[in-house]
Amino acid sequence: MTARFDVAVVGLGAMGSAALAFLAARGVKAIGFDAYFPAHALSSSHGDSRLIRLGYFEDPSYVPLLKRAYQNWRSLEARLRTDILTITGVLQIGAPDGKIVSGTRSSCELHGLAHEALDKAEMARRFPAFQLDDHEIGLLDPQGGYLRPEAAVMGYLKLAAEDGAVLHFGEKVTAVEPDDAGVTIVSDTGQYRVKKIVVATGSWIAELVPQLRRAAVPIRQVVAWYQPQDGFATQPQRMPCFLRDEGAEGSYFGFPAIGVDGVKIGRHAHFREPIDPNQPNPPVNEADLALLDGFIRKRVPGAAGLRVKATTCRYTMLPSEDFLLDHMPGEKNVVVASPCSGHGFKFTSVIGEILADLAIDGQTDLPIDAFSFARI
Ligand SMILES: Cc1cc2nc3c(=O)[nH]c(=O)nc-3n(C[C@H](O)[C@H](O)[C@H](O)COP(=O)(O)OP(=O)(O)OC[C@H]3O[C@@H](n4cnc5c(N)ncnc54)[C@H](O)[C@@H]3O)c2cc1C
Repeated sequence: MTARFDVAVVGLGAMGSAALAFLAARGVKAIGFDAYFPAHALSSSHGDSRLIRLGYFEDPSYVPLLKRAYQNWRSLEARLRTDILTITGVLQIGAPDGKIVSGTRSSCELHGLAHEALDKAEMARRFPAFQLDDHEIGLLDPQGGYLRPEAAVMGYLKLAAEDGAVLHFGEKVTAVEPDDAGVTIVSDTGQYRVKKIVVATGSWIAELVPQLRRAAVPIRQVVAWYQPQDGFATQPQRMPCFLRDEGAEGSYFGFPAIGVDGVKIGRHAHFREPIDPNQPNPPVNEADLALLDGFIRKRVPGAAGLRVKATTCRYTMLPSEDFLLDHMPGEKNVVVASPCSGHGFKFTSVIGEILADLAIDGQTDLPIDAFSFARI
């Protein structure tokens, strides 16, 4: 069979939609498949908002990629003529020597990034929504903010289509058969021959990438929205997005009152409960709500009004809680993008560029050595 397309992208969530747009923009004949309709409720790329921050506590080596991601988000907005990225600042709150505050500070110092440390009194004066313990501080990353995930995914797909990419929704890819000359793709409705393939199937990644069967673990995540009691203090101008370090209890994230549903919060990785990606997300339960209600009452009391909504979503974790962006071992025609361990959305705009580079050129100038199969 002759290859009808240069590159296929399987999975059109955050990673795949961006990859498809970058591929089409570079002039290759590209096709994208999604088993459902992108940014759907079983994917990891829905829910109104995603944090973006520049001073990265996880590791300073992410910062160059983040700088490129910011540029690419602004390019996406310019082409779409819509807002995707809003700067509110991101506060990292906790003990000064805790992982999140000290890691952010190190990252900012190493890369010469603006940041500001605020003690409890200064936090109360400037950002009254938050309740701190006496020894805690807020470290403000003024370049942080939030992204609109559904708008980003749909925006990238729109650009991909405008640049000639073919989009197949509601078509599940059931097998990927690579050989030296290309890849045969089998779906639940057809068969295709392409030169290269990018696999970006989120929590289903191990179905098409057997090397990840043990390593990539989909887990349940829960987020909730609260209509604030204090509508003044929870406006985005007075309440930056935040990460809160609770030590052994893990960390929480949150957003100001962006829309009618109010303030959104979640605990990173929640209870770390593995799930089967082919089953509906287990519904929100009493333990989920007790955890999130308790947090907001204690730490963001002005926002602790009526809980209007709570929903489940999925993270897919690698053991390192890092990313994987690489060719499948021994297969030069197959590129794999992991769902990025619960912190990948902000990188989507640069990961799309990386995946297109890997598929077209076989390599990229962007720094991805840490994200190889060898590191899994
Ligand atoms: C609640 C929550 C909060 C988060 N907060 C943040 C944050 O604040 N900041 C941040 O940077 N990151 C955050 N993340 C992480 C980020 O959202 C994810 O890293 C990212 O969305 C993963 O995107 P993806 O494209 O890999 O996966 P998905 O969005 O799941 O997309 C995969 C797609 O592949 C399709 N698919 C699967 N199998 C097949 C197949 N065989 N054939 C065809 N199609 C297939 C699916 O239908 C799906 O649409 C959060 C994640 C969650 C869940």
